[in-house]
Amino acid sequence: MFIDTHAHLFYDNFQNDLDDVIKRAKENSIDYILVPSTDIETAKKSITLSEKYDFIYVAVGVHPHETKNWDKSILNELKQLSKHNKVVAIGEIGLDYYYDFSPKEKQIEAFKDQINLALELELPIIIHNRDSDSDMFEIISSYCSTGLKAQFHCFNASLDDAIDYIKMNHFISFTGNVTYKKSDELREILKAVDVNHLLLETDAPFMSPMPYRGKRNEPSYLINTVNIISELKNLSVESVGKITSLNAFRIFGIGKKPETSFTYQLGNSLYINVTNRCNADCIFCRRKTDPFISGYNLGMKKSEEPPADVYIREIGDPSKYDEIVFCGYGEPTLRWEVVKEVAEYVKKNGGKTRLNTNGHGNFINKRNIIPEMKGKIDTVSISLNSTDADQYSKLMRVDKDYFNGMINFAKESVNYVDKVIMTVVDIDDVEIPKAKQLVENEIKAEFRIRNYF
Ligand code: SF4
Ligand SMILES: [Zn+2]
Ligand SMILES: [Zn+2]
Repeated sequence: MFIDTHAHLFYDNFQNDLDDVIKRAKENSIDYILVPSTDIETAKKSITLSEKYDFIYVAVGVHPHETKNWDKSILNELKQLSKHNKVVAIGEIGLDYYYDFSPKEKQIEAFKDQINLALELELPIIIHNRDSDSDMFEIISSYCSTGLKAQFHCFNASLDDAIDYIKMNHFISFTGNVTYKKSDELREILKAVDVNHLLLETDAPFMSPMPYRGKRNEPSYLINTVNIISELKNLSVESVGKITSLNAFRIFGIGKKPETSFTYQLGNSLYINVTNRCNADCIFCRRKTDPFISGYNLGMKKSEEPPADVYIREIGDPSKYDEIVFCGYGEPTLRWEVVKEVAEYVKKNGGKTRLNTNGHGNFINKRNIIPEMKGKIDTVSISLNSTDADQYSKLMRVDKDYFNGMINFAKESVNYVDKVIMTVVDIDDVEIPKAKQLVENEIKAEFRIRNYF
């Protein structure tokens, strides 16, 4: 059920009872363990462990503490070691200005060299960061458009940094220190970060959660951290396991990809995964590369798209949900006939419906579909994305005409559905006040800002 993404099982204090430690991990539902190394010697030890235990994976890298004598030849050794089939990341690497065991310049040089190696090998990185927030942020931001994937282990920077790293599509994990009495600030960050970017870790043998604080940490203690996450995120322990395990699969490729879900529940709303296809190709969209949400896999080929009765069967009694939402990572009006059939069923059986769309339904269906929403769709939520046709066309990679088409779709929808909502993504170069004014004053719809992802 759980993946401990950070346990240094190569340390001497595990050597006498490692089999028992592993046995306890298994008994406590730890499916996989990722062992990050700190230098070449521990990388080799970790690989040996991964050969003995099939559920152990490895990251190879040089920890900032060990970078005093960094030189480029070490990169070559890492590169050789990374060829082992159980190596799934470069780590742990980073900056540590708290202990300052190695000069800053050396730490930065080694960190950047290892990031470049990870990019060359198409591997994610595992980051250690202590008292080096501003240099860390500068370095990681400079790799923003490279496709770099990172885990910020034992997160201890600010909430703003956490949010920015998540916008860059990185992952965050907290150790047992979130269970400590004085860790209110960390718990606030944990509460605020998107669960789709959260991983689990112990950092064993360090950072034992309560009630083991001060003792040697081990993977079986992970449940104590999971319980806090479950409480703060208002999710069951099983959901925390499911979501974070899928997250570990997304970044490290550890574990199994779940089957495609045709419907998925978020809060008390049931979402209908109508299609994974879209007529647009937004620069910020994850539909092709990362079609996952809250532990669900929404990726599906056209040939796998189910007929209406499959959705209807999965919905059952629609009145038990707040809303039935036609959504998914794709444009639902591409399958407008299916949406209508399911929506009709929902309305007949006392449910509420919402359509999340890019507003291109009339272009897609080559006719005016707006009057067909009457009595079937209660709320329509349209992505505005921009107030400028040029920017819109660049963001969504569609023809400029689609901008006016979308605006007209929204204006006319007001006459056929109870509520029209228009949303913009909170990326910096979209002018939020202008968008708000357009939506509220001209279109007479409700305005909402939605998160980047
Ligand atoms: S309109 Fe929506 S589904 Fe289509 S590419 Fe843009 S973000 Fe993705
Ligand atoms: Zn660390
Ligand atoms: Zn560590």
